[in-house]
Parts: sequence; C-alpha cells; structure tokens
Amino acid sequence: MTRERSETRRLDLGAQHAEIRAEITQAIERVIDGGCFLLGPEVEAFEREFAAYCDRQFAVGCASGSDALLLALLALGIAPGDEVLCPAYSFFATAGSIARLGAKPVFADIDPATFNLDPDQTRRVAADRPRLRAILPVHLFGQVADMEALTDLAEELGVPIVEDAAQSIGADDAQGRRAGSRGSLACFSFYPSKNLGALGDAGMVVTDDAELAEKLRRLRVHGATRGEPHREVGIGSRLDAVQAAVLRVKLRHLERWTKSRREHAALYDRRFSAAGIPLRTPRPTAPCARHVYHQYVARVPAELRDPLRTHLDEHKVETAVYYSRGLHEEPCFAQLDHRSRDFPHTEAATRECVALPVHAELEPAQIEHVIDSVTAFFSSAGGADPAPGRSSAEG
Ligand SMILES: *Cc1c(COP(=O)(O)O)cnc(C)c1O
Repeated sequence: MTRERSETRRLDLGAQHAEIRAEITQAIERVIDGGCFLLGPEVEAFEREFAAYCDRQFAVGCASGSDALLLALLALGIAPGDEVLCPAYSFFATAGSIARLGAKPVFADIDPATFNLDPDQTRRVAADRPRLRAILPVHLFGQVADMEALTDLAEELGVPIVEDAAQSIGADDAQGRRAGSRGSLACFSFYPSKNLGALGDAGMVVTDDAELAEKLRRLRVHGATRGEPHREVGIGSRLDAVQAAVLRVKLRHLERWTKSRREHAALYDRRFSAAGIPLRTPRPTAPCARHVYHQYVARVPAELRDPLRTHLDEHKVETAVYYSRGLHEEPCFAQLDHRSRDFPHTEAATRECVALPVHAELEPAQIEHVIDSVTAFFSSAGGADPAPGRSSAEG
C-alpha cells in the first residue's frame, strides 16, 4: 500500500515552534509573572537587541509592520499634499501607509533582475517633483534594493529614505551593509510568516537619529509620553510584551534559520540550472550581498506559470503568487495619473512569478520532491517549447 504523500507547504510554523517550544513558553510565563503587558522592560530589551542586529542605534517597537511605516512617515512630517516615491511592485501596505496620511504614492518600476526599485527609473520619476518628500524603497523577497544608488539620489534631491525592510531582516546589501541600516528610518514587520515572526502582530522602526527615535516613542502613544501635553497627534500602536519576549527567543535562532533558507535556495538554483529548464531563479546583486529568501520567487514564461502551479498543486507542493497586480492597478489608486505602460517590468513580474517553499523547516526529501516535480513539469511541457495541450493556457 502506498502512503499518501504529505503536503510540502510554504510555511511550517508548527515545526518551527515545536523545536523551541520550551523557550517560548518560559518567555511567555516571564511576562505573565512580570505583569507588564505593553511596552516596558521586555520590549526595551528586544528593542536593544534588535537595534544591534540591524546595526542601528535605536529601535522603537510598535503594533505591526504597517504601523511601523505609518509611524516612520509621521515622524518625518509627511502630510496631505506631499508625495512619496515607492515601487509599483510590493505588498499593499507600502503604498497604503503613504495614502493613509493623505500623501500621494508616486510609483516607479522595478529592476526585472532583482524585483526592487530600479534606480534609473526612480531618478526619472523623481525629477521635477517639488512636493516629493521621501523615497520608500522595499527590500522585496529578502534582497536589499540598490541602496548605494538610491542614497546618492536621495541626497541630491534632499529627501530622506524610509526603508521597507519587512521582508529582509538580516539581509546584507551589495556593499555588505545590513538591511535597514542606511535609510533615515527603516521599518520591519514580525507578522507570523515573516523570517522573524511573532505569535501575532508586531513591528519595529529603527534609526540612528536620537530625535527621530524620541519622536517615534511619542507618536506610538498618541503624541505624548509621561503625561506631557500633546503638541502633536500620534497613533495608538504599542508593542505587546508577550510578542517582544517571544521575538527575543526567536531572534537567537534567526541566523540558523536564515542559513537553512539560503541553503535551500542554493540547492534549487543549482538543480534548476543543471536541468536546463526555462525557470529564472532569483539573481544575487553582488558577491557580498546576502539574500535571506523570505520568498524564493522564480520566473517562468507567462503562459507556463499557471499550468506549473496546477501541476505542483497536484503533486501537493504549495506555491503562491506575489503579487498578482501592481500597486498602480489597485482600484483605490486609479485616480492617480499612472498609465499601465509606465510599469512594464512590474506587470511582467505579476504574470511570470511563482514562489516555491523555501522555509527553514523543509526536510531534504521535501526539497527533492519540489525539484523533481518542477523538473517533471518542464520535461513534459517540452521546456521552452510547451506541448500543444499547454500552449493555450492563459498566463
Ligand atoms: C508584511 C509587510 C508589511 C506590513 O507588515 P504587517 O506587519 O503585516 O503590517 C509591509 N511591507 C511589506 C513589504 C511587507 O511584506
């Protein structure tokens, strides 16, 4: 009798938590006994440890990655009428945080090789925009954007950079510098599926600017601490002590998990390239850059993407599409004067990308199964020359 093959999922938090369950339980009990549930000593300790990990002076915890973006833009004084430039290809919160403050998201296209802001495009889009107040690059899928070029551009324009590093904790850029270590402010998310995930929502803003750090600490508690008068209006966005305690435990395991993700990605790269199949694997930006593979996103010819996903689904390999439309295609941003042809690389990515399982808990047999299933699809599809049955499929 053959046993049902178990699913190869894109996330296995059960396995992750099983191996550190005692440590997590102990940390939660420490918070229960301490009796301080919002901010306080546990959050302060996590802020110090997290700042050090990101090569930063200050870290300010808050309730989510989305709030981290909102707080960072608020701290910079972004207000109605201002413009903030961000990539057209990202999670909604990147542009949503800008729009939430009444400011206008201005989109630029991505570099097709890295999925991150293309500095030349960014320069063109940023030209002659007197109301541009900040640049918000996203380090998508675990790879840092071209911070060298973007920093030069931001300095020329006299605007700050806010990094959306939600997907890239622990990544290093082409100059070997940490994700989140170069912008005026950088934002992180500890959404459970992120590389460092809480048992709920949590987020963080990091900076080297003491004044901005103080301002963030006020803004997350409605604009004033310690009973001072409210000179500005903030939001209510505190970090839970339970989440901070759990994240302190997990931070100690993050390097090991990152190493596993990178090993899994390297194995995919080698084996897919050896098989000669038309699958473009994520490309590193420079030898010293460190991709942390929040997602392993490969590109396939658009007409093969959905058939490949169906095939993998039949073989119990879970896949996902990040993202199925550009931010400029979201109905809520339709009133912005963008034209579809402004973002050809973003739109190609929405049709060609597929994310394969790459999390740290994957078993060797599961990785082999993913590789075999992908390879089998392309041999039956005839590689770049799809079989007649597949060629009519919509991409
Ligand atoms: C997850 C994510 C966010 C938002 O974080 P939440 O904690 O879910 O609010 C923002 N930007 C990007 C790129 C993300 O991936």
